[in-house]
Amino acid sequence: MNLILLGAPGAGKGTQAEVISKKHNLFHVSTGNLFRKALEEGKELGQLAKSFMDRGELVPDEVVARIVIQNVPETQGCLFDGFPRNLAQAEILDEILKRREKTIDVVCNIQVDHQSLLQRMLSRGRSDDNMETIQNRLKVYEDQTKPLIDYYKKQSKLASVNGNVSVPEVTKQIETLLSKGGHIS
Ligand code: AMP
Repeated sequence: MNLILLGAPGAGKGTQAEVISKKHNLFHVSTGNLFRKALEEGKELGQLAKSFMDRGELVPDEVVARIVIQNVPETQGCLFDGFPRNLAQAEILDEILKRREKTIDVVCNIQVDHQSLLQRMLSRGRSDDNMETIQNRLKVYEDQTKPLIDYYKKQSKLASVNGNVSVPEVTKQIETLLSKGGHIS
């Protein structure tokens, strides 16, 4: 199974991804984590990514594609968190999976209201969680990532969960839709 967690920054994708990937033995692919790790390890790619992350901009697609290809395992199913973030990346992902005779099975959209997103991000204390960067990330989400909802809806792969509730309650909703094989309206 290959699963995508979609949602605005601060929606709880990372938190849910940790739980769900363990439970279902999926390989957790978080492009944000991969960039932060590359930076910690002093890699050039990390420095390059940081310049975009600090501004709340998207890292260029070719850089994202490179890090995804390097990190997606050949056989194990994946849980994608924070990737894809625009239509070009969704097409890149389709291509990567196609080459491996795989496909995306379920796309889970975690919906959280605007005020809660702001509060959650401000309380995280990550270096790119300052007000100016947060506002830009939310705008980038609206402009570039949100169209993915329609992209996956058209493929009948999209299911939405209410992300305004507690962490275990969100997990439960995701579990329910996975148990239905993702075949939700
Ligand atoms: P995240 O940890 O998913 O919130 O990502 C933090 C930052 O990393 C984002 O604001 C972007 O600058 C960058 N980033 C992470 N994933 C992607 C992606 N798939 N495409 C472009 N930029 C990304």
